[in-house]
Amino acid sequence: MTHSVRWAALILVLAVLAAGCQRAPERHDARLLVFGTLVDITLYGLAPERARAVVADLEEHLQRWHRQWHPWEGDGLAAVNRQLAEDGEATVPEALRPLVRRALELAGDSGHRFHPGLGALVRLWGFDDGSNLPQAPPAEDAVAGALEALGEPGSMRLEDGTLTATQGTRLDLGAFAKGYALARLAERLAEQGVNNAIINAGGDLVALGRPGDRLWRIGVRHPAAEGLLASVEIDGGEAVFTSGDYERSFRFEGRRYHHILDPASGSPARGLTSVTVLDDQPARADAAATALFVAGAEDWPAVAADLGLSQVMVVREDGAVEITPALAERVHFEVNPAPETHIRNLP
Ligand code: AMP
Ligand code: MG
Repeated sequence: MTHSVRWAALILVLAVLAAGCQRAPERHDARLLVFGTLVDITLYGLAPERARAVVADLEEHLQRWHRQWHPWEGDGLAAVNRQLAEDGEATVPEALRPLVRRALELAGDSGHRFHPGLGALVRLWGFDDGSNLPQAPPAEDAVAGALEALGEPGSMRLEDGTLTATQGTRLDLGAFAKGYALARLAERLAEQGVNNAIINAGGDLVALGRPGDRLWRIGVRHPAAEGLLASVEIDGGEAVFTSGDYERSFRFEGRRYHHILDPASGSPARGLTSVTVLDDQPARADAAATALFVAGAEDWPAVAADLGLSQVMVVREDGAVEITPALAERVHFEVNPAPETHIRNLP
């Protein structure tokens, strides 16, 4: 089993534990492979046939979004990127406008730590290829060139369907699309009268209602060891997203390089090894986990406040945990002894 499959299985086990054995309403589990991730869907209280139809509907949406939102292949976002390369501006297809608009808003709110236009840098580093990891970092002058071509953060604008940027801008919504997708799927479930469900995309998840009369128990992966660092009980309407340096990384000359790039330097962000965000908006939680990772140990509380968050836990490179008071109340550490923990108030 790959790491991510084992991890998804572990989360699933926790969800099963949460369901308990007594008086559990009818439960339906399905597993999809989309966006290069395993997506586990658990629905409660539906007859089997109805549950299968609901899962098929979710899968159809996910597959369509995967095609439309791919930065390099197809006629959705990829066509926008081709136009940007030629003209430094592009017409965004109508179906993609809400997605791009929200990404730009969150970029601004994060002070451009979350930067959805840095696709060329992600590609230069080799983190765009889902099936292959890079072997070595790119040349420093290539990084500097891509940064220069990207231009000032905040220069991207979407007005009347036209995206104005620089010729070095390529949209890569990898830090945000999963959250946006889970938000849309949760809405679809609610519209279809599904009140109790959880959708878990490789440890990033959104919950609706409850599994029976309890809460959902969610595991947060340990960034530097096998198994869980912590767990937390969440209620319907809450989402949990984690960004970690372990997800895609390689070692080169004794140093580890991972896939979360600091738009200020064009290189992997340093200082933290994972960031977990609990929020009622999955799209914001996803973009925020990435943005706070970039913000690093010094600045993450200020950026979290700017994004409107209250529940954040970060793990520093030295292994210590920093956590907001609102999340500290709820978190249970799954390692013994518990890590060195610092409460950080948001400004
Ligand atoms: P996540 O796992 O949600 O933190 O997203 C990481 C992915 O987002 C990477 O694989 C890149 O495709 C992309 N990415 C990397 N750094 C950034 C950044 N600073 N802002 C936006 N997207 C990024
Ligand atoms: Mg993210």
